Amino acid sequence: MKYKYCPICGKKLEEKYSWDEGGVPYCSVDNIMFFDTPKPCIIAAVIKDDKVLLLKQNYTFKNSKVLLSGYVANNETVEETVLREIKEETGIIAKEPKYLGSYYLASKEIIMLTFIVKYVSGEIVKSGEVDGAEFVNLKDALSEMKEDKIGSEVVKKVLEEIGAKL
Ligand SMILES: [Zn+2]
Repeated sequence: MKYKYCPICGKKLEEKYSWDEGGVPYCSVDNIMFFDTPKPCIIAAVIKDDKVLLLKQNYTFKNSKVLLSGYVANNETVEETVLREIKEETGIIAKEPKYLGSYYLASKEIIMLTFIVKYVSGEIVKSGEVDGAEFVNLKDALSEMKEDKIGSEVVKKVLEEIGAKL
């Protein structure tokens, strides 16, 4: 998002030259440059034996299951986001998030950071944000998440990562 006004003091931003970026919106009162950065978001494939955690969230895709996702908050690492979102949305404890690569979603200015994560403990207790949550056999997962394009790419990578051991 390209800022026109300072989100802190409301002053109209001026352009300030930055070496690599060219002109960047700048607030001289707060001395901050507002770079045009995407919002970071995580997607997690939580793996339990030969199964992967899939959610049903009717507000995103009505006819498809999805991988768990969430926005990175201030004051946390991306790995902490992964474990926090898994706990908040499903009640499950997971560990060892391993980065699998990123995707850029232009329509929402989101950078999707994808992870494979190991299930540790807990039964699924879904949050109000979630309409369903269950562990699905990895070999069946892709057919149940047709609308979740990025999630499907992540599951394909997971299959490459651990497929040989199934
Ligand atoms: Zn300001």
